[in-house]
Amino acid sequence: MEIITTGDGIKERFTEATAMEHPIGYGLPTGSRKVQISGERFMLAGDAASLIDPATGEGIGNAMISGIKAGQHAISCFDKNNFSSAFMLQYEASIHNYFWNDMRNKYLMQRLVGEKSWLADFAIGLASDVPWIKNKLQKLF
Ligand SMILES: Cc1cc2nc3c(=O)[nH]c(=O)nc-3n(C[C@H](O)[C@H](O)[C@H](O)COP(=O)(O)OP(=O)(O)OC[C@H]3O[C@@H](n4cnc5c(N)ncnc54)[C@H](O)[C@@H]3O)c2cc1C
Repeated sequence: MEIITTGDGIKERFTEATAMEHPIGYGLPTGSRKVQISGERFMLAGDAASLIDPATGEGIGNAMISGIKAGQHAISCFDKNNFSSAFMLQYEASIHNYFWNDMRNKYLMQRLVGEKSWLADFAIGLASDVPWIKNKLQKLF
């Protein structure tokens, strides 16, 4: 709202504009904690399984990976004619094994840096001066 009312080069484009609704937001379902993602005859993947990267907000890759894993487990369900919640826990375990360490580290980092923008600025400044820190950060993200 501030940008479209005060931003140079932007505000002019909105002089005749009328807001059609109040902007609303919703938090991204990040993988900051383990949640139940399966049960009898269902598996959740992607955003529905809270698999967005807590540090970057990216979730497309994780949605694709979890979708593949759900598909693979669905084949096992049909092979064994077993759609019970107990059997679905194998899918849940495969997701948690694959994602959890990375998600937990990124969540802790996001908590550490999220409210301290000076720390993020410091790290970015350091990364531009020190190549191995730059490499580390690039690999992390
Ligand atoms: C503003 C924004 C920017 C983002 N930028 C990035 C980015 O740069 N990189 C990145 O990796 N991720 C990004 N993400 C996150 C990414 O979009 C999601 O993590 C990803 O799309 C999740 O895929 P999904 O298949 O789980 O869910 P979705 O892509 O949300 O797909 C769910 C689908 O189900 C449909 N649906 C819902 N209810 C029903 C129903 N009852 N019946 C039938 N269909 C239904 C929806 O219409 C939708 O098409 C961004 C998210 C937002 C909000």
